[in-house]
Amino acid sequence: MFRHALRLPFKLLGIPVRLDSSFLLVLPLFAYLIGSQIPAYVALFERNGIHIDTTSLQGGLTPYLLGLVGAIGLFLSVLVHELGHAVVARLYGVEVREITLWFLGGVAQFTDMPRQRGAEAVVAIVGPITSALLALLAGLSWGLVGGHGAALFLLSYLAVTNAFLALFNLLPALPLDGGRVLRSLLALAMPHLRATRLAGAVSGAIAILLGIYGFFTLQLFLVVIAFFVYNAGRAETQAAIVSSAFAGVRVRDLMTPDPVTVEPDLPLSQFAQLMFFRRHTGYPVVDAGHRLLGFARLQDARDAGPDVPVGSIMTPAETVAPDEEAEHALRRIAEGDLGRLMVVDADGRLLGVVSKTDLIRRIRAHAEQQASPGPPWQRDRA
Ligand SMILES: [Zn+2]
Repeated sequence: MFRHALRLPFKLLGIPVRLDSSFLLVLPLFAYLIGSQIPAYVALFERNGIHIDTTSLQGGLTPYLLGLVGAIGLFLSVLVHELGHAVVARLYGVEVREITLWFLGGVAQFTDMPRQRGAEAVVAIVGPITSALLALLAGLSWGLVGGHGAALFLLSYLAVTNAFLALFNLLPALPLDGGRVLRSLLALAMPHLRATRLAGAVSGAIAILLGIYGFFTLQLFLVVIAFFVYNAGRAETQAAIVSSAFAGVRVRDLMTPDPVTVEPDLPLSQFAQLMFFRRHTGYPVVDAGHRLLGFARLQDARDAGPDVPVGSIMTPAETVAPDEEAEHALRRIAEGDLGRLMVVDADGRLLGVVSKTDLIRRIRAHAEQQASPGPPWQRDRA
């Protein structure tokens, strides 16, 4: 998702923090927007009983410097919100791999989701609580700075935006925190997959309403967020379907055992004939002891002569252990854009091949089974 991200040279609570390129673009924009709307903010604070002397906030670059500090404060608040999730996730034995700041806020990537009942709700609710506490902290600091213009403005700005962050993240739409709380609470009463589907449907409806609201009130940022929530909510639902299809399934359960192999000294003329009759576009190359040497594909054979041995055109093969989780294999195939993985034992001997098609077939069969569950004794646990 974040291909162009800058990693900060230090870690927070042992967690790497990255700044996505969209964050670096949006920071000056936010600084400008805050700086140019200071009178509007001051009027808003005034309505809530906070009087700020604006004479010191006007003129020259002051508003934009104030805007920059405000924008940095906003993103630091988002970072603290994500760290709140990370600290509580740790109590459940789940680590945050990294936190990325981008133009819609922060994303904490977990190594896994806590499996304990209701744990996801606890980890999720900590985010809005953290933001609410930050708002309170900023509010309580008002007394300390007295009537000083710039400091009072920044504290008021952070109090309002953190309160907004807390409320917005409570919307019951995946992948927002409120959506996770909803899914986790639903999962107390029904299988996890059905809870995700239900939460996904609620998320879609909320995203559409948010988009319509943003459109008619001309708040384009809300429309962008609505699009993001809609798409990310769908992706989350699909990921849950995939996870449930592969729950407890190992690579050896799905692999095609004993695939057709070739030996490295086979001439390409015969290799081409094999292709013609078997209609696969590539074959694993093994030695006499059935140890995997590499993978030979038709496209690599094209420019070589008919007497060249297969061994000279083969490429290194991507391998996987038979006891590896099938979901992990799928992730590697998807992320590496691979067609298949060679299943090899500890001694490097080829046991089978697991292909993208094998995995997709499994997901499809599982989805059909879910749609028409059949008698209870035949049902898979979701
Ligand atoms: Zn959160």
